[in-house]
Amino acid sequence: MKIVLAKEIGFCSGVKNSVNLTKTVLKTDKKRIYMLGPIVHNLQVIEMLQKEGVKIVDSIEEIPEGSTVITRAHGVSPSILQEALTKKLNIIDTTCPYVKKAQEIAKYLNEEDYLVIIFGDKRHPEISNMLDIIHNNALMVDNIAEIREIKFQKKIGLLSQTTKNFSNFRELSSNLLDKTEELRIFNTICKATIKRQKNARELAKVVDIMLVIGGKESANTSRLVEICRQQGVKTYHLETKGQLEYTWFHPEDRVGITSGTSTPDWSINEIVEQLEKWQV
Ligand code: SF4
Repeated sequence: MKIVLAKEIGFCSGVKNSVNLTKTVLKTDKKRIYMLGPIVHNLQVIEMLQKEGVKIVDSIEEIPEGSTVITRAHGVSPSILQEALTKKLNIIDTTCPYVKKAQEIAKYLNEEDYLVIIFGDKRHPEISNMLDIIHNNALMVDNIAEIREIKFQKKIGLLSQTTKNFSNFRELSSNLLDKTEELRIFNTICKATIKRQKNARELAKVVDIMLVIGGKESANTSRLVEICRQQGVKTYHLETKGQLEYTWFHPEDRVGITSGTSTPDWSINEIVEQLEKWQV
């Protein structure tokens, strides 16, 4: 069995920044650090931070005055931010710069009277925060059929959730050309996501099995699974080494490994070590 790791693997810069900021804050005050929902979509990372003292809450109401609140890498909605300020909480904003930039673009397009079209999932925190910023004044799309239903508009501005599939975004963009007099397209898919998708596609073409390591809730991990499967290779999505099954592999297999952007190195290493033991 040959193990081949993708070129880009482990935390992206945005997640690294969120986790590092949280660890720094933990050094100063272990007792009153709160996280508003999981800061990243990876259970193992969240459990590690909880063990170190971070408490997870669902709303600002649950946080005692004077405490510190850490926001997600996916951003925070203005109404929640205001609530935290009113309560005089110490806010550690770990929003990824790519997410911030996409929010600013959505705001600009909305203010300039474009019909804002977002390629994304409105249940994802990144998008629900963006919608809050532009007062829900946007059309969500996920496929070409939805684009075809759009009536002719004077001005359209298109952007994407940062972790969407780039090929699908390109396809949607071209289908908007005959729907408007003026079309502005902002490719807000982050570079880390685009690189990983490209690497995963290339790797999936030259191996017998792909393992995609990452949280079941992680949008970018699910996208990698989808891309690998599109290449026709047998693909398994797993979070921990406990989910590996010996029967998946044959001695001559080339096994490709990639990961979501919120998957820690230690989860990847544990899986690689287990595979190496089975090689012996
Ligand atoms: S995947 Fe991209 S947008 Fe999301 S946290 Fe990482 S760098 Fe930022």
